[in-house]
Amino acid sequence: MAFCIYDIFIGMKITTQWDLSKLGSKIDDPVFIKERKSIERAYKKFEKKWKENTKYLSQPKVLKEALDDWEKLSRTESKEDRYLWLRSCLETQNMDIQAAMTLYQDFGNKMADHVRFFELSLGTISVKNHKKFLNSKELVEYKNYLKGIFDTAQYFLSEKEEKILSMKSSVASGNWVSMLDEFLSGETREVVVKNSKGRYVTQRQNLTEISRNLRMNDVKVLTSSIEAHNDILSTHQRVAEKEINSFLENKKINDELRGFKRPDSSRHIGEGLDTQAVDTLVETVEKNFNVSRDFYKLKTQLLGRKSLSFAERSIQYGDINQKFSYKHCVALVQKSLARISDEFSNLFTSFVENGQIDVHPKKGKTGGAFCLSGYNQEVRLMLNHSDSFRDVATIAHEMGHGIHAMKARTENALNYDHPMCTAEVASTFCEDFVLDELREVLTDDEEVLTLMMIQLEDKVTTIFRQIAGYRFEQELHREFRTKGYLTYKEIGALFNKNMKAYTGSSITFDENSARGWIYWSHFRTPFYVFAYAMALLVAQYARKNFLENPDYLQKINEFYSTGSSSDPAEIFAQLGLDVNSTSSWQEGIDEIKVLLKEAKKLAKKLGKI
Ligand SMILES: [Zn+2]
Repeated sequence: MAFCIYDIFIGMKITTQWDLSKLGSKIDDPVFIKERKSIERAYKKFEKKWKENTKYLSQPKVLKEALDDWEKLSRTESKEDRYLWLRSCLETQNMDIQAAMTLYQDFGNKMADHVRFFELSLGTISVKNHKKFLNSKELVEYKNYLKGIFDTAQYFLSEKEEKILSMKSSVASGNWVSMLDEFLSGETREVVVKNSKGRYVTQRQNLTEISRNLRMNDVKVLTSSIEAHNDILSTHQRVAEKEINSFLENKKINDELRGFKRPDSSRHIGEGLDTQAVDTLVETVEKNFNVSRDFYKLKTQLLGRKSLSFAERSIQYGDINQKFSYKHCVALVQKSLARISDEFSNLFTSFVENGQIDVHPKKGKTGGAFCLSGYNQEVRLMLNHSDSFRDVATIAHEMGHGIHAMKARTENALNYDHPMCTAEVASTFCEDFVLDELREVLTDDEEVLTLMMIQLEDKVTTIFRQIAGYRFEQELHREFRTKGYLTYKEIGALFNKNMKAYTGSSITFDENSARGWIYWSHFRTPFYVFAYAMALLVAQYARKNFLENPDYLQKINEFYSTGSSSDPAEIFAQLGLDVNSTSSWQEGIDEIKVLLKEAKKLAKKLGKI
C-alpha cells in the first residue's frame, strides 16, 4: 500500500516508508485466504501426528522427531498477521484494520488450541528423564529449549488449577492495574508551555506530555508541570494504594501456590538466569551508587543550583540546536556501524534501501520506535524521526535489534527469540558507537558537554535507577508479606528511601516525590527492571573489550548470532563476562566513571564548575 520516496544519496537509495507489497495489497487480499488454509493444514497435521502418540515423552529419538516437526511448525509466520499489524501501527484510527485484526486473532487462537497440548506434555516429562534428554546427543540443538520447559514445569500446578489461576488473573490483579492506568492516562491539566515562536501559552496536556516537560530548564514551564503532575498523582493515590496491595497479594498467593522461594525467583527463571547472578549484579551496582550521586552533584552544579527536587532531576543541561535530517542520520549511523564491521553497516544499508524502515511521524501513526523481528519475514523498524540528535541514537538502537534479528537466523526457529537481558545488549552496543560518532560531529564544546551529560543521564537511569527500583520492589513485596497491607504513605516512604540511595543529597525528597511508584508501570511486571541494567553493563563491557582488541569482533559476531540456544550466562561467558563475578559488572560501571570524569574535566575547562 505504501509508495516510496527515493533519494539518491551517498550511492544509496533512501526509502522512508515500509514497502508492504510483499506481504499483501489489502485487508481481504485473496492470498491471505490461501495462506490460512495452508497454516490450518500444518497445525492439524502436527496435532494428528503427536496428540495421541506419547512415545516422545520417554524416547529421545522420538522426541527429536517431534521437536523437528514442532520447529518446522514454529517457522510458520503469517503474512496476513504481519500485514495487519504493520498497517495498524501506521493507521491507529482505522477501525477496519482493528476489526480484521480481531478476526485474525480468533483464527490464531484456534490454531493454538490444536497444538497447546505439546508444550504442556513436555512439562510432564518426569524429573528422572530430564537428565537423559538434556544429555542426549540427538537433542543437543533443542537442549536449552527443553531446559527452559523443565525449569518452569516444576512450578506448574495441575492443568485444572492452572486454568483457574488463568481465568481469575484479570479480576484478581490485571483489572486493578489497567483501571489505575486508565485513570491516570485519562487525566489532563492546563499547563504553561512555550510555542514554536518561543511565547508562553497554556495548553491542556496529559500525564505523558506533562512528564516530558519536566526535562525543560524553564522555571515557568517546570513549575506549572510539576504542580499538574503532583495534582494528578495525589488525586489517585488512594486508588493506587488499593491497586498495588491487590497486585502484591495476588503475586504472594501465586508464589505460595507454585512454591517460589522469593518474590523475584519467577522473574529470574523467566530470563533464564540464576538468582545468584542477579544478586551479584544488584549488589555491585548498589556499591557504586556514589557514581550516580556524583552525576547528580555535577548536574546540580551545572544548572547553577544547590539542589534539585526529585521532579526536577531530569532537567536537561544545555541544548543541541543542530538539526539531524534523516539523510544525515543515515550517514552517521552507517559510518559508526562500519567501525564495528562492514557486515553491520551493510545490513543497515539494506534496511534503508529495501523499505524496511518507516521513518517519519504521520497523522494516525503510533508513537515511539521499535524493531519487529521475523525468522522468515523481513525485519522492520519503525521510527518517528523529528531531526533531533536523540533520533540518531534511536536509529542505532533499533538497528542493533535489527542486526541481532538478522544474524540470529542461523539458529533454529525454537531458539530464535532473545530474552530481554540479551536483546538490550545488542541495541545499546550499537547505540553507544553512534553517540561517539556524534560527539565527533559536534564542534562546539558546550554542545559536547550537553551530549555527555545526556549520555550519562541515560546510563545512570538505565543502570542505577533501575537497580534502586529493583531494591524498592524487593522491600515492597517483603514488607507486604510481613504486614499484610501497606498504606500509600508507607509505600511512599520506601520509595523515597530507595531513590535517595542512588541520587544522593543533591536531590531532595518530600511527599510529592513519594508518589513516584504510582506511575512507574514496570513495577506491575515485577522485577523486570534489573534486565535493563544488566544488558547495558554487558554492552559497556563488550564495547571496552572491542575497542581494546579488534579481534574481539569474532565474539561480538558470535553474540549477535545467538538467540536462545544458550542461556544468558553462557552467552555472556562467551563475551568473557562472568555473571557471578563482581569484577565483570564493575568493568561496565568503570566505563561510566570514565565518561563522568571526562564530563567534569570539560565542565571545568569551560568554567562551568
Ligand atoms: Zn531496545
